[in-house]
Amino acid sequence: MLEEQIKTIGIRNGSVLFVHSSIKAVGADVRAEELIAALRLAVGEDGTLVFPTFTSREEDYFDPDTTPSILGVVSEVFRSMPGTLRSRHPYHPVAAQGPAAKELLQDHEKALGPCGTGTPFEKLVQMNGQVILIGVDLDTLTLLHTAEAFLDLPYLREIERKYRNTDGQVRPLAMKQTPGGHRGGVRLFEKILRQHRVLQDGRLGDTRTMIMDASSVVNAMMDIMRDDPMAALCPGDYCADCANFKAMVRSKQLTELGADLTIVLPEMPADNAAFKEFLECFGAPTQFRLMSALPIVRLAPGENVTMPPDEIQKWVLQPAPQDITNYKKPPAGYCGLAYAPLEAASIGMMPFDDVLYKGQSRDAITDIFIEDGLSLLPGALYSPLTFINHLDPTQHVPLGMGNTQLRDIVSAMRMRNFSGRYHIVINEGNLYSNTHRRLLEFWHLLP
Ligand SMILES: [Zn+2]
Repeated sequence: MLEEQIKTIGIRNGSVLFVHSSIKAVGADVRAEELIAALRLAVGEDGTLVFPTFTSREEDYFDPDTTPSILGVVSEVFRSMPGTLRSRHPYHPVAAQGPAAKELLQDHEKALGPCGTGTPFEKLVQMNGQVILIGVDLDTLTLLHTAEAFLDLPYLREIERKYRNTDGQVRPLAMKQTPGGHRGGVRLFEKILRQHRVLQDGRLGDTRTMIMDASSVVNAMMDIMRDDPMAALCPGDYCADCANFKAMVRSKQLTELGADLTIVLPEMPADNAAFKEFLECFGAPTQFRLMSALPIVRLAPGENVTMPPDEIQKWVLQPAPQDITNYKKPPAGYCGLAYAPLEAASIGMMPFDDVLYKGQSRDAITDIFIEDGLSLLPGALYSPLTFINHLDPTQHVPLGMGNTQLRDIVSAMRMRNFSGRYHIVINEGNLYSNTHRRLLEFWHLLP
């Protein structure tokens, strides 16, 4: 019965077929040998069967000839069959049988990491191979890590494992781009992969199968994660692995932004250490200073510049928004200008169009206070939407959603390699949830 059914599930004759399977799902009385024989029949003599044969991390070292696979009975039976070859990679070894086996497995241990360039997974893509999931879900798909490695995502790790080489010696192997840890977002990929028509469904015994072309699925997953490097991770912030992985993505984004980020709090947090850890998960800096200690001298509208209080601090001048437009460079004694777009909007100026775009101060600005809101702009094309204040009783306007033109400001400054500071202003209330919300909003202002 398996032999008849297996012809209908999309396996190509002559295929290089990578198999993720659960024999128990196929049927209580089905043996591993029967499933392997049926798969062999489907790919034919010109086809190559490939199984993951990953090993326990508890092993002292990896011996390709003897270390068992921990990925289920089918993978272990396949590994032990005569004629099966196995790659020498201590972290993600794979086993194969068929004409393409040798080329596929060769030099796996010499690749940069276990799943990316130079590995059997990349070769599977290049050889136009297929992947089949038999009774297991998309979260078992190792090609996810190939897509992650091709994008060099920052949460992949560097580790070391030992393996026995062809000369019999046990050697350490340092590897980069190593997967590991949780990936709670992967199941959400199924909908997108279906929209891309990458998955073909079938049935085998008592279970479902999904078959896909290796290259199509890797390309589709790369598209998803190029758009959102956190897409494979848990959407919430309550999974420790995923929260830490996201922190790594955000720190990389912050480095690419080229500007510093500071968080301006209404009060000191009760538990500095916990708050510091929390901020680090968002790639934010972790020095605490009181607002009054920020080296900024504020001027009222029309007020003349005085010399800064002392010469030791590098002082920044914050003129009133209507005055900041006149500065081409910081006045004597100051190292920069601070700009608060929400204050400009609240007196009827267009913070981007009037100040940053038409004003002369663009190159002199070193500090930008990031807040958003709704204000009554007399220059707006349409009448101000005063009713919005009544619609939103919390008055919380997400960054980039009000008329402070923050999106335009951040994108213009980013393109000019702005290397100053964005001060994110946190309002009264729960310090954690307000900071969390503002930081997420800030990341969404970036492309
Ligand atoms: Zn998670």
